[in-house]
Amino acid sequence: MDLDLTEEQKSWRNLARDFAQNEVAPLVREMDEKGYMPPELIQRMGQLGFTGGPLPKEYGGAGMDYVSMALVYEEIGRVCSSVRGFLAVHVGLHALCIRDWGTEEQKRKWLPPLARAERRGCYALTEANAGSDVANMESTCRKEGEFYFLNGRKQWISNAMEADVALVFATSDRSLRHKGINAFVVETNAKGFRRERMTEKQLGHNASDHARIFMDEVRVHESQRLGPEGAGFKVAMGALDHGRLGVAAGAVGVGQACLDASISFANSRVQFGQLIGQFQMIQQIIAEMATEIEAARLLVYRAAAQKDQGKRNTTETSMAKFFATEAAARAANEAVLLHGSYGYSNEFPVERYLRDIKGYQIYEGTNHIQRIVIARAMLKGEGPKW
Ligand SMILES: Cc1cc2nc3c(=O)[nH]c(=O)nc-3n(C[C@H](O)[C@H](O)[C@H](O)COP(=O)(O)OP(=O)(O)OC[C@H]3O[C@@H](n4cnc5c(N)ncnc54)[C@H](O)[C@@H]3O)c2cc1C
Repeated sequence: MDLDLTEEQKSWRNLARDFAQNEVAPLVREMDEKGYMPPELIQRMGQLGFTGGPLPKEYGGAGMDYVSMALVYEEIGRVCSSVRGFLAVHVGLHALCIRDWGTEEQKRKWLPPLARAERRGCYALTEANAGSDVANMESTCRKEGEFYFLNGRKQWISNAMEADVALVFATSDRSLRHKGINAFVVETNAKGFRRERMTEKQLGHNASDHARIFMDEVRVHESQRLGPEGAGFKVAMGALDHGRLGVAAGAVGVGQACLDASISFANSRVQFGQLIGQFQMIQQIIAEMATEIEAARLLVYRAAAQKDQGKRNTTETSMAKFFATEAAARAANEAVLLHGSYGYSNEFPVERYLRDIKGYQIYEGTNHIQRIVIARAMLKGEGPKW
């Protein structure tokens, strides 16, 4: 068993680390306070090949393997969850879904501009009454001749305000539940398609754009349906397998950032005449944090490697998402405590890590849902094989 990274993987990691530390980190506090992501950062991720990610080179992608993708997300997540979140949605939930399910014509049309970040993508699944229970969706698609007409509402859609293209899920027959769902690639300037920024104060991911989408008789040609009629649920779940890996990798980054900050603080803060890092209780926190983050990292790389080998990875990816986000949440919680009152203000970044990590436990399937996915596979004897 060889757990070393290849030279190519190291080079993607180093490129992402340089970008995150030198180009994102100087802006991150202002982005968090103002709730804004500079478009230049997204263009830059296009130039660097991050938005092309694992898309094939023939469609303008970078052709990176999934381990490299995880490394890129980890490094960016270590600095800013909003920028990492943009990437996971644009690439994992949107572009990779078109790669997996698109016709040749759809791939040639949509993927190159997405890969170069000239166009932005979002993924519109969640509704007011359909979160975990996707099959309960109320947005409808009505077929007339070669066109579908979409009606309904979506909420919590990341990247939506700035997106040029949305992957929209709607049902042709609610009584069919999962089997009635279709997926469409919809241009956001289509007539009847409206977006509204969610203005409610949110806990974290302050620089992300979250919106509600309203569809009123949005006309889409049948050539914009992704996958066969009725396959929308499978399209949605396939996308989540990609997206969850990005979330898990980003969580490793958040956990690592908590560890880095905690070590630095423990090595500089003096109380009772000694560095707090000399207290055994502080050492215990650091030891547990370091070990959990390392375990999470290995689960993420393992799920990514399974993908690279073309093996089924739904359970491994769910395990990685579940464990890495829980481990990072514990790390963020402990990191704030370890910083005392300094951790409670934005003088140090750990309070942002604590706010941001909560979202990781919720989106792309809450961690309750990940437990269900894992347990079902285990009970059927379909767990990880060694
Ligand atoms: C920051 C952020 C970004 C997001 N971005 C997107 C996006 O880009 N696109 C998109 O489509 N959606 C997005 N979402 C929505 C997200 O995917 C949903 O919030 C999530 O799937 C949960 O749905 P819900 O909020 O409706 O909660 P619910 O499904 O109502 O769940 C409420 C609670 O019940 C639990 N629960 C539900 N069913 C079960 C069950 N069977 N067993 C045990 N417990 C259960 C849940 O775990 C949760 O604790 C985003 C959400 C957030 C917070």
